[in-house]
Amino acid sequence: MTIDAKRLRHDLETLASFGADGDGGVSRPSFSIADGEARAWLRARCDEAGLSYHEDVAGNIFMRLDGTDPDAAAVWTGSHLDSVPNGGRLDGALGVIAGLEVVRSLAERGGSLTRPVEAVSFADEEGGYLGFLGSKAVAPGLSFDDIRGAVGRDGRRLISVMTEAGFAPERIHEAQIAPASVHAFVEMHIEQGVVLEDAGVDVGVVSSIVGVGRCAIEFKGRPDHAGTTPMHLRRDAMRGAAALLTQVGDLPGRVGAPNAVITCGRLDLHPDAYNIVPGRVWLGFDIRDQDRSAIEAIEAALIDLAQDAARPHDLEVMHHHESLTDPTPLDERIAKITREAADEVGASWRDMPSGAGHDAQVVAPVLPTGMVFVPSVDGRSHSPLEHTAWEDLATGTSVLYGVVEHLATTGLP
Ligand SMILES: [Zn+2]
Repeated sequence: MTIDAKRLRHDLETLASFGADGDGGVSRPSFSIADGEARAWLRARCDEAGLSYHEDVAGNIFMRLDGTDPDAAAVWTGSHLDSVPNGGRLDGALGVIAGLEVVRSLAERGGSLTRPVEAVSFADEEGGYLGFLGSKAVAPGLSFDDIRGAVGRDGRRLISVMTEAGFAPERIHEAQIAPASVHAFVEMHIEQGVVLEDAGVDVGVVSSIVGVGRCAIEFKGRPDHAGTTPMHLRRDAMRGAAALLTQVGDLPGRVGAPNAVITCGRLDLHPDAYNIVPGRVWLGFDIRDQDRSAIEAIEAALIDLAQDAARPHDLEVMHHHESLTDPTPLDERIAKITREAADEVGASWRDMPSGAGHDAQVVAPVLPTGMVFVPSVDGRSHSPLEHTAWEDLATGTSVLYGVVEHLATTGLP
């Protein structure tokens, strides 16, 4: 094996101790004390391995092995150190530690890489303060104004926490890279779904990251006394909402996009009391697919369905479109190199989209970008139950090694 599987496991276990919750979960938001401890530990690991360690003004980390050509563009591999509250040990952490393991193994192998290789950790991917902060800062588009207004889950301002952690939000523009300075970026991540596990496949070669549509449906009826209003005279907004929700599961199939997913994850009910017939219900929907037009078709069908559900209860329906993030295709050349690297180490692979968002989608418009997935046991993620077999982690990291080595020597065609 090209990588050291024991060291990989040791480092993943050590990293999981920073911000450990005691139930197997991890709470390690960016710029927290636990995040600072993890950074100090990574710096020491780089010293031991003879890699240079650098942090930019946004709090991104770069762990670097120089190449023979000092002017060559770097190959990046990495993910994010931060976790959601009481999240798992692997989401993000795996990509950072696997990246470190690959760079360290390349350094030990000796020989000559043309291009420098850097294991990267992007700050605040999970949005404790501002989702994808680090990757947005390196790609063009993030300004100090965006940071100025950001307030975290903890109620604190991003500016304050970044400054206290030793970073420089007012100079965020300095984190932006010249796209020509990076040859390619490869992110390894747990799948966070059951596709690989169900198929018994070792690695996923990610073809694209799904688009996300957000919208709300509001039913308006009439609040009335719950004791004195006969059933046939009610305009109960909750009954319209309930009728709609029983049918949304059919929408992807109905518009011919069976792999699309739709979730009603938010509900706001008024007046929200035992003794009042609900006068207003607001439902928030998240719709995802690889194809933008499928997301739009599902949103349109959702409105029709809501109108049908409202009619028997004499309700008004309002639709609020909130946002639509385009699906992001990843670089097919990197996908091909990944399939070959998997074949090389005898790992089985399949092409697949990512249903979750990743730093890769933020940098993909400016850098050739690829992603490698490893299986998630039971598809569990953002939970202390997040788990991947150690053997699968080692196999995935070996594949990543092959991809990064290829990119650092032969490079993209
Ligand atoms: Zn992640």
